[in-house]
Parts: sequence; C-alpha cells; structure tokens
Amino acid sequence: MSQSPDTTAAEPIIGIDLGTTNSLVAWCDATGPHIVESPQGRAVLPSVVRFDPTGGAPQAVGDEARRHAVEFPEHTIFSAKRLMGRGVDAVTGELAYLPYRVVEGERNTARIAVGKRIYTPQEISAYILRELKQWASARFGREVRKAVITVPAYFDDAQRQATRDAGRIAGLEVVRIVNEPTAAALAYDLDREQDATIVVYDFGGGTFDVSILKLQNGVFQVISTAGDTHLGGDDIDRSLVERIQSEIRAQFGQDIAFPPATRQAFRTFAEAAKIKLSQDDRAELEIDLGGERTYRRTITRAELESLMRPWIDKTLESCKRALRDGKLKPDAIDRVVMVGGSTRIPLVRRVVGEYFETEPYTALDPDRVVAMGAAVQAAILAGINREALLLDVIPLSLGIETLGGAVAKLIVRNTTVPAVARENFSTYVDGQTHVAINVCQGERELVADCRLIGAFELRNIPPMPAGLPKIEVTFIVDANGILTVEAVERRSEKRASIQVIPNHGLTRREVERMGLESYEHALADMTAHRLIDLRNQAKLDMRQIRKQLEKVGEAIDPDYRAEIETKMTAVQRYVDADDPEPNAFAEALTAMDHATIKLAELAIASTLREENLNNRP
Ligand code: ADP
Ligand code: MG
Repeated sequence: MSQSPDTTAAEPIIGIDLGTTNSLVAWCDATGPHIVESPQGRAVLPSVVRFDPTGGAPQAVGDEARRHAVEFPEHTIFSAKRLMGRGVDAVTGELAYLPYRVVEGERNTARIAVGKRIYTPQEISAYILRELKQWASARFGREVRKAVITVPAYFDDAQRQATRDAGRIAGLEVVRIVNEPTAAALAYDLDREQDATIVVYDFGGGTFDVSILKLQNGVFQVISTAGDTHLGGDDIDRSLVERIQSEIRAQFGQDIAFPPATRQAFRTFAEAAKIKLSQDDRAELEIDLGGERTYRRTITRAELESLMRPWIDKTLESCKRALRDGKLKPDAIDRVVMVGGSTRIPLVRRVVGEYFETEPYTALDPDRVVAMGAAVQAAILAGINREALLLDVIPLSLGIETLGGAVAKLIVRNTTVPAVARENFSTYVDGQTHVAINVCQGERELVADCRLIGAFELRNIPPMPAGLPKIEVTFIVDANGILTVEAVERRSEKRASIQVIPNHGLTRREVERMGLESYEHALADMTAHRLIDLRNQAKLDMRQIRKQLEKVGEAIDPDYRAEIETKMTAVQRYVDADDPEPNAFAEALTAMDHATIKLAELAIASTLREENLNNRP
C-alpha cells in the first residue's frame, strides 16, 4: 500500500515495541500505522543477542540467536528487559530462569557477564534497538534518529530511564516513553472515542500484564495494573516439552539423554505445534532422535487446551486483582483490547470474552498492536494528521463470499455507523461440517474484484443434508469502524466470529476508485453475478433430478427418461461453457425444470409408497 519511501521533508519518528520476547518497529502516516519489515521481509525481531564465547562483538541478533539459544546458553542473552534498571537484589527471583551469568555492577545494579566482558542490560537492549533502527533507516532511505519506545505500565522511573538510555546507546533520541497498554489503545484509535473504561490484556511470551485504563477526553489514565512476570507462551511450550520428554522416555527408555540441540528442537517443535493449533484442530509432531528412533504423535487442540487451561485461569486471577484494585466489577469494563502473541489462542479469547462479557478487540494483530500504537503516538508528536478516513459512514460495502465467487452484501456503502445486518445462509454439500466465511469489501459483484478483508471457518457443524443447516451471519460495525462478523449454525448453536478493521490501509482516493470501478463494471458484473446464480441453480436442480431419477428407478417411461436427459445435457453444456449467454442459459434451465415436474410427482409418490410400506404394522 504505502510502502514507497516517504518523500516528505519532515523527519520520521518511529514507534518501537521493545518486548521481553520480541521487538517490532512501526511508523504512521495519514492512512494509519504500518509495521516496518526488515530488508529480508521479517516483521518481528526476537529480543535475543548472541555474543561469541569470550563476550566480544555480537554474533547474531534476533532470529538466528533465538534459534540456537539452548545450544549456547552462556553467551546467548534474552529477557534483558527483565533486568533493565533493576538492582541485583531485586532480580534474584529471575536468576533461576536465566542460564547466563548475572553479576552485581556499580550501585548494586544487575549486569550480565559474558566470557570476560560485563554488559549492562541497557547495552543488550541497545543491540536490539540498533537493529530495528537499521530496518527503519533502510525503509526510509535515510537515517532514522527519533523514536517513541513503549514500556510496561508498571515500569518505575529507573526502568523507564534505563529504556531511554538504551535508546541513546543505539543512537536514537527517545522523544517519548509510552505505556504498552496505552499504545495498544491508541492503535485502535480509542483516544478519539467516547470516555470509557478499557482493559488491556497482554499475554506475551514470558510475561502476563493486565492494565485498566480510564479514557477521559482523549487522555488515558492507568487505573490499576496486575500481572505475573513469569507467565506466558513459554510456559505452554514448556509443559508440552515436558510431555514430549516423558513420552519419549516411556517409549525408548528412561536413560535416553537429551543433548542441547535436541532440547532446542523440542522447544521449536512445541512452539510450532502450539501455533498451528491456534488455527487447526490437530498438529503432527515428528522428532528424529537418531539411531533409527523417531518420536511421532498427533496432538489435538483439545489436548493442548486442557494442558494450558491452568495458565489461562491464572491470568484471570490477575484480572480479578486489577479490577479489585481499581474498585471495579467486570461489567464496568467497556472494552477489552487483546495484546501479545498468546492472545491468538482461541481458548484465551473465549475465556477472556466470557469473563468480561464482551467480545475482545482482536482486529489488529495482537503481537503488532503495541508497536503500531507507539507509531500513532509518534505521529501525534510529529503533527501528522491521521484523519485518513472519517468513519461516520461505512465507505465501502461489506459482504461475504457465496457459492461460486459471488458476493452477498450485508452492509452497503454509506450506511452510518454503528450498523448491524443479518442474513441466513446454508450449506451446498450433504454432510458439510465446515463452512468458510470470507469477508469482503467493495462495490463489485464478484469476490475476485473486491478486497478480502478477513476469513474464518464455522466448524464442527453436525453433518446434515445440504440446505438444512441454518447459518445466520451477522455483521456488526461499531462506532470505531471495527467490524465483527459472527456466524451461528442455529440447529447446533455452533458459532465462530472474527473482527476486522474494514478500512485499515485504504486512503480516500482508493475508496473513491473502488466506488468508481463499480459503476464502470456494473453491467459486466451483473452478468457475471447472474451467471454464477444460474450455474448454482442448475447444479442444485440437476442434483435433485438425479436423486429423483434414482428414486423412481424402473418405474419411469424410457422415452420420458431420455427427454429429461437431453434437457439436462443442454443445461450441463451451459454450466461448462466459459462464457455462456445468460438468457439462453436461463431458457435451457427453465425448459429442464418444466420437463421434470412430472418426475418430481413420481418421486413424491414413490416416497409415500415407501412410507406406507414402512408403517405397516
Ligand atoms: P512479548 O510481548 O513477551 O515480547 P509477544 O507478544 O511477541 O511477546 O508473544 C510471544 C508469544 O506469543 C510466544 O510465546 C509465541 O509462541 C506466542 N505466539 C505467537 N503466535 C502465536 C499463535 N498463533 N498461537 C499461540 N501462540 C502464539
Ligand atoms: Mg509485548
């Protein structure tokens, strides 16, 4: 979208999420915040630095360092954020988690010893910041020198000062330190909304933080914070690794050894399986243990959910504490903003939504939202007008893909927000248990010409004949322009939902162009849409006819059967044609339908006969 280098003269200010596990950089223009990728196209930088064993220059920063952390425990430094601006006495609780050496520096400060060298946590963080600064400088084609950096809401003065110092060491002027939860709220533009009480639920790699913010006249105030400094996705990975190890021992002998490279592999596999299970129902684990031994097993989402349930319940304990400290009840919360990679886990979303009785905000990538908010803050400081789109009306129609690539529009453009629309759909195939819901935006009649803005699946519908499931799809656009799409199968009450920000990244000009195109293509689109409908209708009818032919069997006059088959062949030819003439197609379809009225009667009669037979005493 706006990935071309910025040509404005103003010096860019970037936003940085300096995380315990991962760090990101973003910037914001009038169309909104954007993540800056590395020249290799990576968006996330693991906050990990590996030195050579003597403690000399860093050998690797980011992914490479993280991938080999278990193999080089003494000179791979991660979680430096935990030590930032803290005294040695204050971090004794951390030491059990850190395989590298932490020593006492001047004024009792915590330092990190690698080989013969001693580093301050600020210097380690500076290596991370320097890398991100380089990504941004490459993106802008000029040196970026100014940044907004985020810190946890509970960071004290010393920790904030240490973060500023890390920036300075990296050659950055830190124009503002912002609280992570505030940044997340800014990314959702909540500052431009009505006063509200907001919970920011941040479940990351190694830490859990919950903050309650009060928004008043566009200003956020932190009411209370709570959390757990050792609770995160790593714990889930670890319990999975423990399960794998004990199963391997049970299978291949208790004395089997796990050298560092194997343990690293367990960790990598466990995390990958966990991430896959946020999307899928099952994941395959296959680990080559050498000596012709392979550990292989399937893990289901249900199994992982029972494994991680205790950790999720622990996060709710912190939420309760934050509410109590803020003297609030769960129903006093207007919005819940989800932050951190671990909030991609469906169970986490479900449990948090149930606890606060509100659909949590997940439209922005939870692991990017803090960096994006930092960029929004940077844009405010730089005086950039982020009034890209007024959201008092919905700028482009919103709908879902239906059979054959047509669009069913639920909310048409220029509807005022908030808005709600509902429509019913069904399945097309017998026994269909999954339905894909593709949400699209645009004025054109075909999905291919609209923009796909979100997709999800309604799963585990009990198998039923085609057309029987009653799938109710609801679109809700709130005052913020955030779209929630919910699908419920009414017979089984299976449900699934997704949130999207429909207009993110679209400029006014693009919106206008998409509108204009729809006028220009209106005729072609209508024909295309009509053809899709005709094809769908034809296929449905022919399937029905085949069923009826089967049912009546020999009881039908051979000439009549031949007539029906001729009519069906004619229709089939239109179905298969690349670009059939719609009127002729419609005529053939009508002819087939007329010809089969008698067949339908015969089929009903034979059904009645069967029932009578079955009902005989
Ligand atoms: P932090 O803020 O602590 O630096 P992040 O917010 O980047 O960390 O979260 C990192 C954690 O999120 C890791 O434990 C990672 O495994 C987890 N994670 C990332 N994506 C997913 C996913 N799709 N499903 C489950 N966990 C995920
Ligand atoms: Mg984070």
